[in-house]
Amino acid sequence: MNDMSRLAAPSAAFLDGLRELLGPKGAQDPEPEDPRLSEPRDRWRGSAAMIVRPASTEETAEVVRRCAEAGVAITPYSGGTGLVGGQLRPETPGGAPGLLLSTDRMNRVRLSAPEDDAVVVEAGVTLSGAQEAAEKAGRLFPLSIASEGTARIGGVLSTNAGGLAVLRYGMARDLVLGVEAVLPDGSIHHGLKLLRKNNTGYDLRHLLIGAEGTLGVITAAALRLYPRPAEWATAFCAVPSPDAALELLHLVRERMGETVSAFELIHKTGIDFLAEHVPDARHPLDPVPEWSVLTEAASGAGSEMQARLEAALEAGFEAGLIEDAAVAQSEAQRAAFWQVRESIPEANRKVGAVSNHDVSAPMSKVADFIRAAGPAIEAAAPGTRINCFGHLGDGNLHYNVYPAPGRPKEDYDNLRPEIKRIVHDLIDAHGGSFSAEHGIGRLKVGELARYGDPAKLAAMRAIKAALDPRGIMNPGALFG
Ligand SMILES: Cc1cc2nc3c(=O)[nH]c(=O)nc-3n(C[C@H](O)[C@H](O)[C@H](O)COP(=O)(O)OP(=O)(O)OC[C@H]3O[C@@H](n4cnc5c(N)ncnc54)[C@H](O)[C@@H]3O)c2cc1C
Repeated sequence: MNDMSRLAAPSAAFLDGLRELLGPKGAQDPEPEDPRLSEPRDRWRGSAAMIVRPASTEETAEVVRRCAEAGVAITPYSGGTGLVGGQLRPETPGGAPGLLLSTDRMNRVRLSAPEDDAVVVEAGVTLSGAQEAAEKAGRLFPLSIASEGTARIGGVLSTNAGGLAVLRYGMARDLVLGVEAVLPDGSIHHGLKLLRKNNTGYDLRHLLIGAEGTLGVITAAALRLYPRPAEWATAFCAVPSPDAALELLHLVRERMGETVSAFELIHKTGIDFLAEHVPDARHPLDPVPEWSVLTEAASGAGSEMQARLEAALEAGFEAGLIEDAAVAQSEAQRAAFWQVRESIPEANRKVGAVSNHDVSAPMSKVADFIRAAGPAIEAAAPGTRINCFGHLGDGNLHYNVYPAPGRPKEDYDNLRPEIKRIVHDLIDAHGGSFSAEHGIGRLKVGELARYGDPAKLAAMRAIKAALDPRGIMNPGALFG
């Protein structure tokens, strides 16, 4: 997509027109240090001629229609927690500045429909707001990620977010019955039907989910809800190896079926980082094992989750798949177990990674990948530490590389591209993906071109050109 040939800088009259349309709350000139132009890891800044905050779908449609006519670029922005820079459009020499379109004023719960196991929320509702709306309806919206207090539904769907309960409930894509969106010409796609079955041709919902703002602006979504569990059982287990962890996963699922909602693999490096930087989060097993698994099962009242999980773990011990285990005996202990898992990213940030990788492989290949990647990284960057943790039940690893003790990450700046290449080549060779959860954004455009299937890439470009011929929607994201 050639940014410069098709896009135009907004004229002063164009911006004045938006001020008139949206009022002072809806059309803002960005401050030099505007937080909406930064990203969670502070790697680079975005730029915008104006930040627009439409308060309704109709206002969004009018903004997009005017931009399409004038060739002005739009970068959609929800919570700004994306980790691949999709929500920021940096200034490019000679490039036409565009608008940042924030969804934060579209923040209403439009409909609560427990009888349909659904809620309809606008794009600016935070993920935790959507969970609360589900709770008020007596149901569960099971998508859960560490950034849920800030991430908003528009961004969560546009990145097809994953998180902690994918094993049981699927990713964002699986939790949406329909979307409403403004397409790149300013037309409104009214797709908020509360239907589980609707075979009527191409499903625009699935094109827009995961499109990272390149095919339009999602303005609202009908979310799929589930019954709220009444009983939980949560355990930390020491396992001899990642292979044993996978066998244990299958054993626990055979016995407990779909009640298993989380199965997290954690390496000791992450626990060492916690001890140093988040000492309140303490692993319940002593000594801390090289590999541990945090698993949780949940179901309705009377389902005897605790007894069933304990019996499954007993079988795991007997099969040599578990060396030690702690089962949470109270809600407070359950929260403490989860605090360990959920604090790992915070400790990681404090240590400072040389290179982060959000990769996935078929579950059967995860252990092979771990065995191959460690020595390859040690050969390229001796002494570095690897913190490997993630959602084993989804084959998704956060495989992060840290400096040798006492050395700053800057020492490895020249090695970063090689480390990334090693990890991504290996994951590709194991039939995996270089981006499991976080998307492509602007950070992984090169990887998509390198590892993406050529036919898929050609189809993506054709879809983009057909729906957005001037390339106004989030230029630079996905395609570069
Ligand atoms: C601490 C932390 C933990 C995280 N944990 C996870 C995790 O476990 N799993 C996971 O998947 N991700 C995780 N993330 C990444 C991030 O939170 C998710 O990608 C989230 O879904 C992004 O939502 P957002 O509202 O912040 O989107 P933004 O960052 O605002 O935008 C993300 C992308 O979506 C586009 N977009 C935003 N709104 C719209 C819209 N209305 N219409 C069209 N396009 C739009 C943007 O242009 C951009 O390309 C984590 C991030 C942090 C900081």
